Amino acid sequence: MVRERKSIGHTGTTCPLCGTRGLVLTESRFVRRGLARLRPNFDADARLYELCRECGAKHAVELVA
Ligand SMILES: [Zn+2]
Repeated sequence: MVRERKSIGHTGTTCPLCGTRGLVLTESRFVRRGLARLRPNFDADARLYELCRECGAKHAVELVA
């Protein structure tokens, strides 16, 4: 399966590692490809995280269902 990443926007969070302000809010989810399209119980397993452009740190964000 293929994971797709999508930048949603910027947050006002400060990176705890390098102190950069304004992390990139990114959504990562599985994309249906080929045979996966036929699976009825496909789980996109979407996750949100904040990505720091400076040091590359990822910080998981709770998904609101
Ligand atoms: Zn950082």
